[in-house]
Amino acid sequence: MKLNVLVTAGDGIGPEVTAEAVAVLKQIAQAGGHDFSFTEKRIGGIAIVNDGTPLPKDTLDAAVASDAVLLGAVGGNEFNSLAPDKRPEGGLLQIRAALGGFANLRPCFSFKELTVNSPLRPEIIEGTDIMFVRELLGGAYFGKPREWNKETGVGYNTMVYTKDEVTRVARVAFQLAQKRRKKLCSVDKANVLEVSQLWRAAVTEVAKDFPDVTLEHQYVDAMAMHIMNRPRDFDVVVTENLFGDILTDESGVITGSLGMLPSATIGGKVNLYEPVHGSAPDIAGKGIANPLGAILTGALILRHSAGLEKEAVLVETAVKKVLEDGFRTKDLARGNMDGLTVMSTTEMGAKVRELLAASF
Ligand code: NAD
Repeated sequence: MKLNVLVTAGDGIGPEVTAEAVAVLKQIAQAGGHDFSFTEKRIGGIAIVNDGTPLPKDTLDAAVASDAVLLGAVGGNEFNSLAPDKRPEGGLLQIRAALGGFANLRPCFSFKELTVNSPLRPEIIEGTDIMFVRELLGGAYFGKPREWNKETGVGYNTMVYTKDEVTRVARVAFQLAQKRRKKLCSVDKANVLEVSQLWRAAVTEVAKDFPDVTLEHQYVDAMAMHIMNRPRDFDVVVTENLFGDILTDESGVITGSLGMLPSATIGGKVNLYEPVHGSAPDIAGKGIANPLGAILTGALILRHSAGLEKEAVLVETAVKKVLEDGFRTKDLARGNMDGLTVMSTTEMGAKVRELLAASF
């Protein structure tokens, strides 16, 4: 298997955590005789300092020419006074738009060992394993007309979807459900919004091509409660952009640490993979960042860009085992720490690779 990965590590803890993800991917490549290559380019604050723009042309060209992009994180307090499109985060939005991925996959899971890190009760969250599929290019964030008219004192946005936009993201969600527990929940607000009625009709139509998947519909307000009350009941959840933004952040509390969460954006020219967290300037350079979200993001590269499902599961299992064996980064060090060992970023990465090596 040949895979050309562009690594845009970015700012803050980005380089620290992506280094561990790349080391794991290299180990998988070596063990399986795969030909993975890694090219590094700048994005975000480091690119502003060196190239005068958050997304240099050679980074964008390399991204489009790659098989997968692994992004660390961008952002830093020193750039906060810049205009939005000139800031590090502008580079992120530009690369996402250029690659054109429309389906944002955000797994939400609970590790037994980390239930203490969640404000929710263990008996509610234990065993949670949800894959959110958030539509990323449509809805209220992009719909026109949009305006804040300061003279008239009126502001508005437009939540708009075409049937094709719904159908393509629904297909991704059904396909994922087929490989999982064969349940899909589509979230909308069809009791109030016409755009949601279109959404519901389009998803229901796609369901005819996936008779092995059980489809249910939920209203977004009810879903916000169900996720907190009975998260285990859900397998794949598909929803539009704004609802997905809110529900995925809400679900993040189930896992208990931002540092654990991976994401992938697929369906465009090239898939874009990033841990969910930001550049964490408060802990950057201290060697204490949690690399597990980035390593689990590497597992998503194996699954969705390399087609190496078995290897993806091996990485996910190694992460689980590290936690079972009592190893934690500082962000996970809560509650009773008896018998637990707190590790640095690099030590945690090395521990994952050690357990992975034992599983080949
Ligand atoms: P953040 O995710 O960077 O940090 C929030 C909190 O979580 C901090 O206390 C941080 O120390 C902690 N944290 C995050 N990731 C961690 C990890 N891997 N290990 C241990 N602790 C971790 O969010 P923020 O503080 O709101 O934003 C900081 C900067 O990052 C801002 O400039 C923001 O715009 C940017 N940002 C970038 C992305 C991205 O690149 N995708 C996403 C969110 C925020």
